[in-house]
Amino acid sequence: MSTTTGQPVLDIKHTIVGPDELDTVSAVLASADLSGNAAAVTAYEEALTEWFTVPHALSCSSGTAALHLALLALGVGPGDEVIVSAAAPAMTALPVLAVGAVPVFADLAHPATFALDQDDIQRKITGRTRAIISVPMWGYPADGPDLAAACADWGLALVEDAAQAHGTVTDGRLAGTGATIGTFSTHARKLLTTGEGGFCLTDDDRLADAMRQIRNLGQHPEGGPFGAGFGLNFKLAAVSAALGTAQLRRLRGRIARRRQTLGALHQIVADTPDLVPLPVPDRGEPNAYAALFTSDHAAEIAHRLAAAGITSDPLRYGYRPVYHTPALARHRPKRLGENAERLTRTLVTLPCHEGVGPAELERITIALTR
Ligand SMILES: *Cc1c(COP(=O)(O)O)cnc(C)c1O
Repeated sequence: MSTTTGQPVLDIKHTIVGPDELDTVSAVLASADLSGNAAAVTAYEEALTEWFTVPHALSCSSGTAALHLALLALGVGPGDEVIVSAAAPAMTALPVLAVGAVPVFADLAHPATFALDQDDIQRKITGRTRAIISVPMWGYPADGPDLAAACADWGLALVEDAAQAHGTVTDGRLAGTGATIGTFSTHARKLLTTGEGGFCLTDDDRLADAMRQIRNLGQHPEGGPFGAGFGLNFKLAAVSAALGTAQLRRLRGRIARRRQTLGALHQIVADTPDLVPLPVPDRGEPNAYAALFTSDHAAEIAHRLAAAGITSDPLRYGYRPVYHTPALARHRPKRLGENAERLTRTLVTLPCHEGVGPAELERITIALTR
């Protein structure tokens, strides 16, 4: 895609496929071992386990499937309630509907964080609440061990939808590793991609076994008949897993490079009093999936960027609190989430991927200062 000015569109999506991906995928194709139970899938899951230093990593067909799988394994079902971040995208809340549960939306702690307001959560907990889903949007550190500890006190499972947060550090640990289950997407727009795909991380042996059984048509992980328990087919294909294994080898280096570009963007914006970088909590580090700023003139800035061929995600997606989504309107709270309303209205994202070099930084500078 290119703009009216002839310059290519600068989006936060940046896919890198090199010789390693081609070789790794070709080898799996040549092996003709292609199902979701193939050796390439096991190898990918072992690589994920190592990268995240967790006991269990389970690949699956999408980030949405990862959430669906997590909720099924936790036994969330009809009549149950799941508290979801009001700043989440529709994809976080729709799996709650898929298991027949009711999404209840919690506000953010303040208008410049994706961390949840624990007082608001507490007000919304009922006898039917089973789980909480927190979301570190655009890979910015959000909820840390304090929410995990609160969930333990409340007797609720914590699912962290880290779909955009591969490599994000929250209070010194990787996003998705401090929750009961961490879920990730590897869709083509994410920092780690398998085209379509996702995975779940957990420390809990019983939950890992339950998810393995559910993703593979109810077959017990040790074998036996399909339908031994409930299950569907959420498996990731071997070719996609091979792509993921190669992508994972790049991830650390990509994040390091992006963090430098994020620093450069902060310097550019330091001269734009109108744009304030989203604060990052102590012992936290974004994965630089995108660069986040807030502004009282966010819409105007996003349109100005768009005119220069630079995409800001909130404009691209019409970002608003998730309870405004038509499919979720029935669950819209009477009192809207004040902080989520404000953050979604004031947020501006900028690309900070490996394709953003001196020329692109200059383009962004001109677009912001014009
Ligand atoms: C992308 C995304 C999902 C859904 O992942 P898919 O792989 O597209 O199904 C869920 N939650 C968040 C926060 C996402 O960014």
